[in-house]
Amino acid sequence: MTLNRRGFLKSTAVVTGAALMTNNPYPSISTGIPDKFLSGKMKLTYRPYTLDLRHVFTIATNSRTTTPVVLTEIEFNGVTGYGEASMPPYLGESHESVLSFLSKVDLGKYENPFELENILHELDSLAPHNTAAKASVDIALHDLVGKLMGQPWYRIWGYDETRTPYTSFTIGIDTPEVVRQKTKEAEEYKVLKVKLGRNTDKEMIEAIRSVTDKPITGDVNQGWTNKEQALDMLHWLKEHGVVMVEQPLPKERIDDSAWLTERSPLPIIGDEGVQRLADVRNAAGVYHGINIKLMKSTGMREAQNMLALARSLGMKVMIGCMTETSCAISAASHLSPMADWADLDGALLIKNDVFDGTKIIGGKVTLMDRPGIGAVKV
Ligand SMILES: [Mg+2]
Repeated sequence: MTLNRRGFLKSTAVVTGAALMTNNPYPSISTGIPDKFLSGKMKLTYRPYTLDLRHVFTIATNSRTTTPVVLTEIEFNGVTGYGEASMPPYLGESHESVLSFLSKVDLGKYENPFELENILHELDSLAPHNTAAKASVDIALHDLVGKLMGQPWYRIWGYDETRTPYTSFTIGIDTPEVVRQKTKEAEEYKVLKVKLGRNTDKEMIEAIRSVTDKPITGDVNQGWTNKEQALDMLHWLKEHGVVMVEQPLPKERIDDSAWLTERSPLPIIGDEGVQRLADVRNAAGVYHGINIKLMKSTGMREAQNMLALARSLGMKVMIGCMTETSCAISAASHLSPMADWADLDGALLIKNDVFDGTKIIGGKVTLMDRPGIGAVKV
């Protein structure tokens, strides 16, 4: 009998799987995974959904009141993993582009969801971009695998769930009166994040400072253009209790960003300038640290690799988010025990969350002791 390569690999996988179960060299150690979860058919389903924001959200480049998302599910032998793609305008993805990408994904050909590396490598090669669409599959797959293993991802990764940071709470660009009001509403949060990058930066900070002396992180979203003025502004911000600044200059301005980082009195974090794993090495020396977001990184697997690489390069790490439901926020939160800063307020900014998961309690990221990503439908 002749076997093509694919058939050969498949039969080898079955034999290896069977050998694992019967000739276990460590018989006293159980994998904890029932046999029935080692083969079956995965089924991916998805639906578009629109998040309604609590406030008009204004950053340096645009304003909006809604965010399109796509909610995914992967079902396998009666267990379901949940995922999500969130598409803020600057990512360049839409309901249409995500649905079109997902229509090309065929998970039915894989033996089981534990083939994360194979599946996600092939998923990535389906199209060059679509990072949010890819993240929606990655997150659902991680949720499924965690559920099959009966463990939350922070435990699978070996992270200490008590070491989660406080999350920042974002105050969008607005009039001083509204900024003061939003600051008062954010009483529960220990760190405020302020969107900067317009000509009202000092006004925004002064409005907050008239209400509270909490630490502030600043996010310029590439909104400053002159590096000398940016450096002056960083000194002024430091004097006003700002503790870190994201993406002060446009992402293409690599040399100017490195110049600014070298002189900055505050840590400078690359966000728009650092999307995926391949960007991390180049970011060393340009920024003090990186903002990792699942919608940029294509999901949890690459995000964890980015975190490890950034750490090995001596860089700071921030775990961020888009406006998302508690599904994607929960997924990202499993990395937060290893982060210097968390910006995981995405689900707090929306009115129509459809999941319950990681919570912000007393301002602190609080992980649920539930298998997978820890998000359940509400
Ligand atoms: Mg940012």
